Amino acid sequence: TLEARAVSAWFGDRKVLDRVSLTMPGGQVTALIGPSGCGKSTFLRILNRMHELVASAALAGEVLLDGGDIYDPRVRLTEARARIGMVFQKPNPFPGMSIYDNVTAGLKLTGTRRSRSEQDDIVESCLTRAGLWNEVSDRLKQPGGALSGGQQQRLCIARSLAVRPEVLLMDEPCSALDPTSTNRIEETIRELASDVTIVIVTHNMQQASRVSDRCAFFLASAGTPGRIVEHGQTRAMFSSPQDQRTSDYVNGRF
Ligand code: ATP
Ligand code: MG
Repeated sequence: TLEARAVSAWFGDRKVLDRVSLTMPGGQVTALIGPSGCGKSTFLRILNRMHELVASAALAGEVLLDGGDIYDPRVRLTEARARIGMVFQKPNPFPGMSIYDNVTAGLKLTGTRRSRSEQDDIVESCLTRAGLWNEVSDRLKQPGGALSGGQQQRLCIARSLAVRPEVLLMDEPCSALDPTSTNRIEETIRELASDVTIVIVTHNMQQASRVSDRCAFFLASAGTPGRIVEHGQTRAMFSSPQDQRTSDYVNGRF
């Protein structure tokens, strides 16, 4: 379980998130929804300590993974990132690197050394879990950049799985993909959800209702930083939203 407690965020003087608290239970998919600029990506980056890479960024609050504060000074950044993986909107495999080496690249970054046969096993199991193995098992030496967009996105998912993350954060992972690839990624998300905690940002309400167990609706307005208006079980939030603004947003009337 990943838990954000009263998380506030600033870029310079500008506050962009205001006391956001959210529990993202293990083994479930949590969708973050809300209009452009409300702070979803910022919140996601805070969950794996990428926010601190921006020079002007400041942060308050806590992020707990199974009760342990990931911002505790004793927690190393590489450890936090290995436990909490991230998949970006635009698939970003290492284009000149082989499919095989793309999957094992994360292992090298975290400094884990493995024998060749151990690596072979990891490559097969991660590509299988990412739903890509059948399409690429006969061409693992080809460059990652030679794959289609949807395949590249699944390759990036496989790469993040290789370091055995407990949480996978996904920022609009399907927005650059065609419907077939999107379906495939959604299946992958559902399959992974039993053993990885997933947090996904999406602008697609059908997608949120298809893949997520829980949902959080973020909103910001002029002069008001991003806050969570409503969160809960996805089914309940879509069928009987408690806040008029949630209702308007999920029904495309915002
Ligand atoms: P979208 O749906 O368009 O991706 P979002 O909900 O992900 O939007 P964020 O990208 O988190 O929104 O941005 C939240 C606010 O923080 C915005 O007002 C944005 O301008 C600001 N912001 C984001 N990144 C930076 C940055 N690196 N420097 C300064 N301001 C930033
Ligand atoms: Mg965003």
